[in-house]
Amino acid sequence: MEQLMKDFFLFMAKNKFFNRMAKKYGLRFGAKRFVAGETLETALDVIKDLNAQGMLVTIDHLGEFVFNEDEANMMTQHCIDALEGMAREDVNSNLSLKMTSMGLDISKELCLLNMKKILEVAKKHQNFVRIDMEDYAHLDMTLEIYYKLREEFDNVGLVIQAYLYRSEEDMKELAKLQTNLRLVKGAYKESPKVAYPDKKDVDENYKKIIELQLSNGNYAGIATHDEAIIEHTKRFVEEHGIARDQFEFQMLYGIRTELQKKLVEEGYRMRIYLPYGNDWYGYFMRRLAERPANVAFVLKGIFGK
Ligand SMILES: Cc1cc2nc3c(=O)[nH]c(=O)nc-3n(C[C@H](O)[C@H](O)[C@H](O)COP(=O)(O)OP(=O)(O)OC[C@H]3O[C@@H](n4cnc5c(N)ncnc54)[C@H](O)[C@@H]3O)c2cc1C
Repeated sequence: MEQLMKDFFLFMAKNKFFNRMAKKYGLRFGAKRFVAGETLETALDVIKDLNAQGMLVTIDHLGEFVFNEDEANMMTQHCIDALEGMAREDVNSNLSLKMTSMGLDISKELCLLNMKKILEVAKKHQNFVRIDMEDYAHLDMTLEIYYKLREEFDNVGLVIQAYLYRSEEDMKELAKLQTNLRLVKGAYKESPKVAYPDKKDVDENYKKIIELQLSNGNYAGIATHDEAIIEHTKRFVEEHGIARDQFEFQMLYGIRTELQKKLVEEGYRMRIYLPYGNDWYGYFMRRLAERPANVAFVLKGIFGK
């Protein structure tokens, strides 16, 4: 049953009709629990609130489908506006983005150009940009552009997914540039040819790559809601004398908020991934697919308290 619901929400996430309706009718159905709001202004208010609770933030302008150069340029402008807005309001937040939103599927040159524009603005404000990792089909292109960007910029980091067999190898190259990495389990449906099909193996590899990044002395964003992994990391840093400013925990806005607060109280760096924008529908459906139990919140959103 749970698998059926997961598949249903993943199918719904890609439905263009509902996506259009969602844009038209605004944040509904309990999506506010996972999305800051539809505008940058509302997102900035939420960042201030999270900062006041001792949390760092990474902001993400939601966008599902980018088909042409104009759309990619518009998404780039959203990122630039976000960086300018965060600097103006003096909030503690960096920026996360997806290269497909910057035009990766249209041309590598366009994507590179847009990324450079964004990184220039980030540099001006001494801010940092994290490139989210997308599905396997985009991995090589993402790495290629990342290495090109690093010839000019050092305020940019990447994500490594524990479910891929090749991640440890990729990390060896990235370590040569002291790359700041966010480490995740991996969110896409991938073939067993490239990714561990068993959750147990993903979890084991996740622990391994966390230890690798930390032992290399490079900065790690450990992005998970899995308490066992968090506890493992705490033990590892304790045993190896790794400073608390060499890593941070990261979680999605609205998920396991009690655990987020607890980690802050314990003195760990905690960064919240905060999405905003009117293209919230696909993101929201994927969160429901991750944990169909969250459907209860949707029903509350539709039928009231
Ligand atoms: C900040 C951040 C950035 C990310 N960036 C990327 C990226 O760039 N590329 C990528 O492929 N993936 C990314 N991910 C997603 C990641 O790969 C996983 O798919 C996702 O985090 C779920 O795995 P998990 O580590 O939380 O562990 P899981 O094994 O999925 O979950 C562990 C436990 O966490 C709790 N939990 C998990 N999800 C939910 C939920 N939705 N609601 C309530 N409780 C929940 C449950 O108690 C569950 O038992 C990111 C995740 C985070 C937190």
